[in-house]
Amino acid sequence: MSRETCYRCFWPKSLCWCPSITAMPSRTRFVFLMHPKEFKHEKAATGRLTHLCLAQSEIHMGVGFDIHESVQALINDPRNFPMLVYPSAGARNLSKGDLQAADLGERQLVVFLLDATWSLAKKMLRLSPSLQRLPRLMFTPSAPSRYIIKQQPVEGCLSTLEATHELLLALQRSGLDDYPMPEQLLGLFARMQDYQLTCARDPSREGYRRKAYSAPADRIRPQDSTGARRTRLFNLSDSPQNRPTGLGGSCT
Ligand SMILES: [Zn+2]
Repeated sequence: MSRETCYRCFWPKSLCWCPSITAMPSRTRFVFLMHPKEFKHEKAATGRLTHLCLAQSEIHMGVGFDIHESVQALINDPRNFPMLVYPSAGARNLSKGDLQAADLGERQLVVFLLDATWSLAKKMLRLSPSLQRLPRLMFTPSAPSRYIIKQQPVEGCLSTLEATHELLLALQRSGLDDYPMPEQLLGLFARMQDYQLTCARDPSREGYRRKAYSAPADRIRPQDSTGARRTRLFNLSDSPQNRPTGLGGSCT
């Protein structure tokens, strides 16, 4: 298999997703802020694929964003209504109708999503006071994570791709956006996982695992996060046991 990489989707050229992706229009602008470690570790690059699926989106890599020109321009543009998707006490829950079209007025909703594990996302925020100051947005996921590959440690922890899909569903329900292609993100996610599972079963391929991946429903829910090395950021359920407490909240 060719080792050449497509520098758009960051998959091997022989498996490039680009021809099957249509950039979907949206009223909301999506800004993915990717921690460099996520870029290194997350071989499936779901954040980048999600960005390619959305015409009104961009992706920036970094840890601190206070001197990042494009990010600061988006935050400071008076035509924008910037929000950070981050669960915390005081976050507006889209699923509960906490954000309405009237809140935006004529402004465009610009949502910033941190594409990182929970601990790296906290670091990104610590180094970016301008992001800390943004009003926060959350939602209640309609489905648990579909992630088989990465063994999401807790119910409610979503990949960036799933979180964006859920966010779009919640935006549509709130009348803030339209979501005409809900099958694209999830279809891409399913095909990507199928491919990775095929590799995991094939001893001749890189990525082979002697022990098969278990289905999400069969996994034992850990009591705390100590066993989960790469806990995802997006734990957006607002059930009492999951309710985060400000910035110090955790995904478990
Ligand atoms: Zn590609």
